[in-house]
Amino acid sequence: MLREIALGEHDKLLTLLTPGDGKITVSAKGARSQRSKIGSATKLFTYSNFEIYKKGESRYIKDASITEPFFGLSEDIEKMALASYLCEVASDITGEGVSSVDIMRMTLNSFYAISKGLYSLPIIKGVYEIRAAGLSGYVPDLEGCAVCSEKITKSGMLDVMNGCIYCEKCAEKHLNDAQKEMYEHPELAERIVYCRLTPNTVAALRYALFSKSSKMFSFELTERDELSFFSHACEKYLLHHLERDFDTLNFYKSLF
Ligand SMILES: [Zn+2]
Repeated sequence: MLREIALGEHDKLLTLLTPGDGKITVSAKGARSQRSKIGSATKLFTYSNFEIYKKGESRYIKDASITEPFFGLSEDIEKMALASYLCEVASDITGEGVSSVDIMRMTLNSFYAISKGLYSLPIIKGVYEIRAAGLSGYVPDLEGCAVCSEKITKSGMLDVMNGCIYCEKCAEKHLNDAQKEMYEHPELAERIVYCRLTPNTVAALRYALFSKSSKMFSFELTERDELSFFSHACEKYLLHHLERDFDTLNFYKSLF
């Protein structure tokens, strides 16, 4: 369940993420009343089984049962804020009437990890963001430097707009050229975004993108700088390619 809107006194309009049909909107009659049978199964973040019927163009919930309530998500405000942001991203990248198994799986795994406190919130957030960008068709080329093909050995740079990385030497030259270009075309300045990388952050980005969803958080970035480079790169990369901002993200960030 990604989103709910109160409808009248007793009803709710829900946005659901489904494996087979992508994002769908359904009415849940009576779901807001105390005695409703489907009340708890239609709560935000809850993973439920729905029996749905169609009447004209609209869909309605006939019955619902909880598979996983993710109680831990409502434990504290940071967890809830992050889950809300992931819901907003999921809703943005999911189409209607399309198979969305990968988005569904990564969202459920993230909810589980957040609710059980299995990994740190910045790791979960970053992995979700970079995978969301990948599933939307924006997979950065992290194999090696886009200019000289060398691996990043000391430090490097992610070119967010072009979805590639540069080694230290080529990054310097690229930055000089980019500065000249920006001078001539000031309108480009907004589109050009660079993030610092280390060999470990490149490895973490690759792992986050290409590992199986069941293991997508199983890596460590022990240096504080490396975690912040990773977080920064994932967030910038997703927002740039989706060409938007998220209120839920701004709220999450305001908590720290
Ligand atoms: Zn290079």
